[in-house]
Amino acid sequence: MRFANLHDDIGNDIYDHKDQKDRLDTFHYPRFKQGNMCFSAIVCCFDGGQDWNTMCDTIRYVENAILHSKHFSFDDTKDIQVFIAVEGMCGIDKDPEERIDWLYMHHVRLASLCWNDDNALACGAKKGNKPLTDLGKRVIKEMNQVNMAIDTSHCCEWNFYDIARISTKPIIASHSNVKGLYNHYRNLSDPQLQVIQSKNGLIGGIPVRWFVDKKENNATLEDFIQVLIYIKEKIGTNHIALGFDFMDYIPGMEDSNVIGMKDITQIQNIATALQEHGFAQQEIEDICFNNAYNFMKNYI
Ligand SMILES: [Zn+2]
Repeated sequence: MRFANLHDDIGNDIYDHKDQKDRLDTFHYPRFKQGNMCFSAIVCCFDGGQDWNTMCDTIRYVENAILHSKHFSFDDTKDIQVFIAVEGMCGIDKDPEERIDWLYMHHVRLASLCWNDDNALACGAKKGNKPLTDLGKRVIKEMNQVNMAIDTSHCCEWNFYDIARISTKPIIASHSNVKGLYNHYRNLSDPQLQVIQSKNGLIGGIPVRWFVDKKENNATLEDFIQVLIYIKEKIGTNHIALGFDFMDYIPGMEDSNVIGMKDITQIQNIATALQEHGFAQQEIEDICFNNAYNFMKNYI
């Protein structure tokens, strides 16, 4: 089964390993091949402490690494197609139109306004609940204008509904699960699922333990499949994708994924589990690959 991934912090990983010039090809590529991951976001995450120059420096480095990769490319001319996604745009504190244009020019095709921070544009769900700022509204309009997909995975509920109202295009929650099964601040309520459906968007289910269940409960792949079943029952399989958010390559985070799918090399276990739960072959292909790929194809 082919897979697509809406969220993976590989951008930060390669930037943090500048000493390994071709880490993308030597470390990540063999793992992608083992899991049959064919399409992926390369995420640069900014947690709230970075200024615009730092953001640009990181994104330029990552873009360059992809342009010089033997196996990854922004188009379909190499083995694995990728796009840059930005998680948190804390560096945009003025000139939102010019800065969004700069990001787009540097292959950013999906972005969220904030991470867990409260910045000049938006407020993370962990931080509070308040309206989008005027600058944040201008960012959404410019993202629509340049054709950059909007990720709502980290923002607070008030921001979520503001974004849904202002954006003329679909919205994504690239790596979030459901409050109906586990009431985590990063998970989506049933009304939020309905909004994403009505805007023809996507939810990337995240098989990281503490978004599936309480951290100490050690959630399993079976628990994660229940999340996908829940979304299917509420809004159908057309709006389900995957946002893996692998952290196993981050020191100290090796055990972040659900038990039964320890890293990218074991993602085929998801396809097998979906089959065992009676998902049709077409539904499995859609969840694992088609929905994310077909959605992002409109932006790349
Ligand atoms: Zn995140």
